[in-house]
Amino acid sequence: MVDKLSQKPMPVLFIGHGSPMNAIEDNEFTRTWKKIAKSIPKPKFILCISAHWLNGRTAVLSTDNPRLIYDFYGFPKELYSVKYPASGSKKYAQIIKDCIKTLDVKLDDSWGIDHGAWSVLVNMYPKADIPVLQLSINPDMLLENHVKIGRELAILRNQGVLIIGSGNIVHNLGMMRPGAEPFSWAEEFDDYIIKSLKDGNVDNLLNYQKQKSARYAVPTNDHYIPLLYVVGAVDVKTERPTFYCQKTFYSSLSMTCVSYGL
Ligand code: ZN
Repeated sequence: MVDKLSQKPMPVLFIGHGSPMNAIEDNEFTRTWKKIAKSIPKPKFILCISAHWLNGRTAVLSTDNPRLIYDFYGFPKELYSVKYPASGSKKYAQIIKDCIKTLDVKLDDSWGIDHGAWSVLVNMYPKADIPVLQLSINPDMLLENHVKIGRELAILRNQGVLIIGSGNIVHNLGMMRPGAEPFSWAEEFDDYIIKSLKDGNVDNLLNYQKQKSARYAVPTNDHYIPLLYVVGAVDVKTERPTFYCQKTFYSSLSMTCVSYGL
């Protein structure tokens, strides 16, 4: 069977996923994610680069039946009973591996679909009828190499693949304050990254640590790095970003989402 290819390259998304509770809540963020999904042609498969799969090397999830990973603690029981029975695909994993020529990508069947992916996808594609693949993040790599891998993955956009980076531009769990106003450094850093994306300034994105606010906004960069794959997978000079959910949650998590090609 020949897969129906989309006419124009598939969009690329960065989703600020925030709390795992978004998997079961109806709120402005989850409603926006649903709306975004409705405006995208049905993907052949989804490739998610999630902040929650950190690995000593770059690996691609290679299994036809991925398990769901409940990689969080202390949440209501209801969240642990969420199911997302999407298939995976060893065949598609090989295709992803073959795209990346600058390093040797491992095929990995030990991981599954983590909440960085499923808490978003259960909203975007509740039928779970699209195969889900994940690519791990090697946090020890130079930041520019994440962009380079994203660039190598861009070809998948012409094959009907939806690439999603799932993290948060501002992510400081230690300083969360439910119900309080956003910290100024959180808004400052989020604004700076949004401007850099608008300007197509990849150098700014790679050198984010030069910003004073980064010290608090990005205490560890696991949630920031997925954005670099997204930036790599698009042409920042010609493709314009669209922004959604520009809100700071619990004072220290920005929920900003970005789409290209929509
Ligand atoms: Zn997270």
